[in-house]
Amino acid sequence: MKKEFIFILTLLISLNIAAKEEFSSTQKFKECSGEEIVILNSRQVESMAKIHELISQVDIQIASHPDLSAKRQKSLKKAQEILRCSLEHLPKLGYTCDGLSRHCRTSEAWINWRFARYINLCPDFWKLSPERMVSDLVHEATHKCGTTDACYFGASPDSIPHNCKGFAYQHIGSTYQYWALFGIKAPGLF
Ligand SMILES: [Zn+2]
Repeated sequence: MKKEFIFILTLLISLNIAAKEEFSSTQKFKECSGEEIVILNSRQVESMAKIHELISQVDIQIASHPDLSAKRQKSLKKAQEILRCSLEHLPKLGYTCDGLSRHCRTSEAWINWRFARYINLCPDFWKLSPERMVSDLVHEATHKCGTTDACYFGASPDSIPHNCKGFAYQHIGSTYQYWALFGIKAPGLF
């Protein structure tokens, strides 16, 4: 198990290096201080490890809930697909640290949905614990794979992801933020 973990970590670090190289012609970090870049490099590797862990956790949840309906299994499989897609996108994203956007009045971090190449970090992001930073990056990465901000579940363990405002939970970014913080919970999985 430990060996496997080291293998995954090495793989993630090399993916991260590859991603940095991809940005050599442009800039992976915009307006970020040296200290912020160090933090972001760590949080990015940790976020990828977290997404990797969640992908396996979905299989474990399906296996340990044999009475789950076909529909609920399908939703979980879709969520797993979104996690895989996010794992592919996250190392290719850059970061902006100027924190000047109007979105920063209400957000810790934001991304210009599917077409963005940058996750934008707001002043409040830097006040978060490392775990919360990771959960924010996971949330933002899933927007690259089509999730919405229909509802927010990420802040408290009581606010379990559910279908909301016409969107299935697996299509809502904050489902993955919740999962990164509190583990996989969803309709039928309690
Ligand atoms: Zn969002």
